[in-house]
Amino acid sequence: MVTQCENSLREVAAQVYRHGMQNGHLECAACGMQRLTEDGLWQHFPLFHVNQPNVGLQSCCICDKRVSNFAVHLRNEHGPPGRGEMEAENRKQIPLYSFALVVCRHPDGRFLLVQEFCNQGFWLPGGAVDPHESLSSAAIRETKEEAGIDIELTGKLVLLIEHASREQYVRMRWIFAARPKDVHQLPKSIPDYESVGASWVSLEEISQLRLRGTEPIQWCNYLANGGQVYPLSLLQDHGK
Ligand SMILES: [Zn+2]
Ligand SMILES: [Zn+2]
Repeated sequence: MVTQCENSLREVAAQVYRHGMQNGHLECAACGMQRLTEDGLWQHFPLFHVNQPNVGLQSCCICDKRVSNFAVHLRNEHGPPGRGEMEAENRKQIPLYSFALVVCRHPDGRFLLVQEFCNQGFWLPGGAVDPHESLSSAAIRETKEEAGIDIELTGKLVLLIEHASREQYVRMRWIFAARPKDVHQLPKSIPDYESVGASWVSLEEISQLRLRGTEPIQWCNYLANGGQVYPLSLLQDHGK
């Protein structure tokens, strides 16, 4: 323990005294301290041994269960969390799905919208990031697949990062601003699994289209009105 706080020293001294006064049946496997109660060990272990490397699989001295990290097991399954008096740490792993969406503006002021499959309406180009793929590669790939347009993420381009935590998964959406590499390239017009096709549309036209969601209105207006964009260099964007 390293402290500059006198109160912390007093608090720890009181805790050590209380632990010494207990009449439990448990012994700390790390230091041999005896006669600890369950709550005593629950407080003692992090106080004295929080910096001790995990020794790996071992039997819990309270419940005999074989556990891979005693400190974590003790914290969450014994003492107050074990009795339901306090929350156990939520160590449940849930999947994270990342999506890259692209707000692509033509130099003439129009925006690139995709007509989604299954009659869902128009939406921004974009989709799920594949395993081993970087966010920016996914943005470029999805725009090509859905809209037939090669885009450039010009370096000042993250509009928003949206994190949506649900019961079974976390959805993270990265919204990029972009421009076409070739202003004369025509958007995709032959339907396939990825989309029905794509078009360059003005802000007025967007508001008249049947949209899959409100994002095209929101983000195209945002970009057209000079909304703040952030440098692409914010991203440590690893992957192919
Ligand atoms: Zn100990
Ligand atoms: Zn246990």
